[in-house]
Amino acid sequence: MSGALSSLSMTAIPPEDEALRAPVRAFLAEALKDVPAPVRARSWSGYDGAFSRALGARGWLGITLPTEYGGGGRSAFARYVLVEEFLNAGAPVGSHWIADRQSGPLILKYGTEAQKRFHLPRICRGESFFCIGMSEPNAGSDLASVRTRAVKGADGWTLNGQKIWTTNAHHCQYMIALVRTSGEPEDRHKGLSQLIVDLSLPGVTVRPIEDLSGDSHFCEVFFDNVQLPADALIGAEGHGWEQVTAELAFERSGPERLFSSIVLFDEWLAFVRTEAGRTPSAVRLAGRIMGQLAPLRAMSLAVTRKVAEGGSPVVEAALVKDLGTGVEQLIPAAIADDLYGRAEGTPVPLELLLTLEYVTQVAPSFSLRGGTRDILRGMIARGLGLR
Ligand SMILES: Cc1cc2nc3c(=O)[nH]c(=O)nc-3n(C[C@H](O)[C@H](O)[C@H](O)COP(=O)(O)OP(=O)(O)OC[C@H]3O[C@@H](n4cnc5c(N)ncnc54)[C@H](O)[C@@H]3O)c2cc1C
Repeated sequence: MSGALSSLSMTAIPPEDEALRAPVRAFLAEALKDVPAPVRARSWSGYDGAFSRALGARGWLGITLPTEYGGGGRSAFARYVLVEEFLNAGAPVGSHWIADRQSGPLILKYGTEAQKRFHLPRICRGESFFCIGMSEPNAGSDLASVRTRAVKGADGWTLNGQKIWTTNAHHCQYMIALVRTSGEPEDRHKGLSQLIVDLSLPGVTVRPIEDLSGDSHFCEVFFDNVQLPADALIGAEGHGWEQVTAELAFERSGPERLFSSIVLFDEWLAFVRTEAGRTPSAVRLAGRIMGQLAPLRAMSLAVTRKVAEGGSPVVEAALVKDLGTGVEQLIPAAIADDLYGRAEGTPVPLELLLTLEYVTQVAPSFSLRGGTRDILRGMIARGLGLR
């Protein structure tokens, strides 16, 4: 294979990582046996610190981090298997999600020895949760125009500004914030840095924002003369742009960009398998959805291989996210067409309808969070040498 598709080769999960699946599945079957589908459909938006700590106690958090920092010392494929099982079951993984997926690996890659020794074991135990402070009211897609500013003094940094759409900031202990440490917003990529912000410090205000479904999982965060120690800087001053680009590849590459509607899909399939639920058009739709999910999973695994090999598959991850979120959004729309197009009096289970209602309400956000569709397509065009 050559050219544009050469970096998406067919990839198998190594047997030692595949072997993780059975114990994880058994644990989840027991832990989630009484949790109804509309709650499980929240999965990586769901927040449950005790559940995260239970995973940490089993060695299932920070599985790719080195053992000397409390991690599992395993490959990206091991994490892929865990994540796939968590999402398939609809486990409430939102509390540790960001720390496990990107803050931990970011600290490992760019952090000082002291930062690694402090933060990584806590992340692996499910004691420290992180949020991502990138977006601002006038800098969402256009991160280079970030205005939140940290000024260096004799004892550390003084932080002022505002972040928005910060997932779970009201529950997290830390934010990794993209801030301007020199120059002006017009300087774009130059002068941006990442800081680890302890959210319990004076001057930090966190305000949850309610979404369409009534949940409050993302927040506005205000910084008013927050005093940060000198070692709050992560990585090199002025290198924030390169660091967030690498971090966003972690965010975009995983199976979560295919699985946001999977609990709904499973509930609906269970109904279609019954005599009352089975119709020729529903069976065709099931095949159509599977026909899109299966190659996407293969693409996502190909991206995982690049991560396992130490690469930063920025363009490939953008491709998977763009296509994946399209399918995640197709599922609730197509299932709604199927269920509401049926003859009056068809006995559709209430739990299925409630799950459909929730997923339908949040589905528009699937192609926004983690980078909008338009931005990803620009990155893909650049990867093809067309921009
Ligand atoms: C559920 C959810 C959770 C989120 N969690 C976080 C989080 O934890 N941390 C965080 O930092 N952010 C988070 N976000 C924010 C998210 O990353 C931003 O919403 C996103 O990057 C878009 O930014 P914006 O909302 O400011 O829209 P804008 O950037 O204003 O974009 C508006 C529209 O214009 C288009 N557009 C903008 N610029 C261009 C361009 N150059 N070319 C073509 N089209 C363009 C966009 O694609 C979009 O359709 C979250 C968002 C959601 C929905």
